[in-house]
Amino acid sequence: MDFDVVIIGSGPAGGMAAIQCAEAGLKTALFEKVNLPRRKVCAGGVVKRAIKLLPKDLEYPIESICDTVELRLHDPEKSFQEHRKDLVTMVNRVDFDYAIIKHAEKKGAQILDGVEVKSVIPCEEHVDIITANKRYSAAYLIIAEGANSRIANNFWDDDRVLAPALESEIMLPPEKLSEFQGVARFDFDIITSGYAWVFPKKDHISVGICSFSSKKPNLNKLFDDYKLKIGLTGQHEERNRQGFIIPVKPRQQTYMKQRMILVGDAAGFADPITAEGFTYAFKSGIEAGQAIVKGANPEEVHQLYHKGINEAIVQELNIVSKLSKPFYFSQRMRKTLFKRYGARLCRGMADLIEGKQSYHKALAKRAFIARLIINTK
Ligand SMILES: Cc1cc2nc3c(=O)[nH]c(=O)nc-3n(C[C@H](O)[C@H](O)[C@H](O)COP(=O)(O)OP(=O)(O)OC[C@H]3O[C@@H](n4cnc5c(N)ncnc54)[C@H](O)[C@@H]3O)c2cc1C
Repeated sequence: MDFDVVIIGSGPAGGMAAIQCAEAGLKTALFEKVNLPRRKVCAGGVVKRAIKLLPKDLEYPIESICDTVELRLHDPEKSFQEHRKDLVTMVNRVDFDYAIIKHAEKKGAQILDGVEVKSVIPCEEHVDIITANKRYSAAYLIIAEGANSRIANNFWDDDRVLAPALESEIMLPPEKLSEFQGVARFDFDIITSGYAWVFPKKDHISVGICSFSSKKPNLNKLFDDYKLKIGLTGQHEERNRQGFIIPVKPRQQTYMKQRMILVGDAAGFADPITAEGFTYAFKSGIEAGQAIVKGANPEEVHQLYHKGINEAIVQELNIVSKLSKPFYFSQRMRKTLFKRYGARLCRGMADLIEGKQSYHKALAKRAFIARLIINTK
């Protein structure tokens, strides 16, 4: 056997899994198809509850920190803000992901970048991992290959919902940049079913738009309109305008088959309302690594992994998935919601970001309150 664990993909899910396995002394290899450090289309907003999952001894570069979240509507003009310390840490994905991978390497993981896994063959006692030049074997395989999921889709049905998104970096002079500093901004009526964002970085803002509709909106056109709405009327250098997909509904299946485990976007683990992926990528990577470290055989690993992700990820995302439909279904309803409960929604979002609240608990509390009201009548 070449390795105890092989991981496909150097994103946050793969990186965190590699740290867990290597730290526990397992012979760990991580394959990344492109050379590192690599770029990933992303706004780079890491919410506070995700930051809490990072190893204490991990050092990573920070672009800026937002103590404020802002939810906005343009028609009628309304905005709601919530201020709390360190709500969203803004990073550059090139540097951030690389810092996690270097940390895994420091803990003993072997990083093979520029090596694409072409296929895998699961066997009774191991998994074969095939690249262009070599065949490797490992006791377990963690599939952290992101949203495109070519390898995973050979073994799992792809029933995830893939939301298209567009992101770009807009360079701004300091006086203009200061208008956006400190605030993670979300605009909810730029697109019929979805939202647009502005995330401030050191010398630019990340501007983007994502759609939760099955219809295909013209994101480029909506993006250009949005730029004008946020006051970017002059000439500004724009870098890396690029589209990608965010899987906003988990696969409705088991997340481990034979000796292969799915984590992060490959499993469909991103929030169906906010499209936030870091918390679930970190958490699933950690749980997959720990299950392999602790489990004596594939059945035990399966049990441990599912126990680790069931409530925190799968049930949570399935609830959000149900909530996201009415939320994004009608723009009119969303406006009414904002008009009546805008401040409360914003507070709730800050609670989620901090990890003080989950959709799960919030709904359970509401049901409890509803039962109380019914019983006291
Ligand atoms: C426009 C946009 C903006 C976003 N903004 C945010 C945000 O602000 N905050 C947030 O929390 N989330 C955001 N997300 C979601 C977030 O980017 C993802 O949820 C997160 O990157 C998932 O991590 P991952 O480790 O599962 O996969 P990825 O980060 O996608 O990493 C997968 C890696 O696997 C490699 N790979 C794939 N196939 C192979 C193979 N066969 N062999 C070897 N290597 C392979 C890829 O090259 C890639 O490096 C955004 C997404 C998009 C599209």
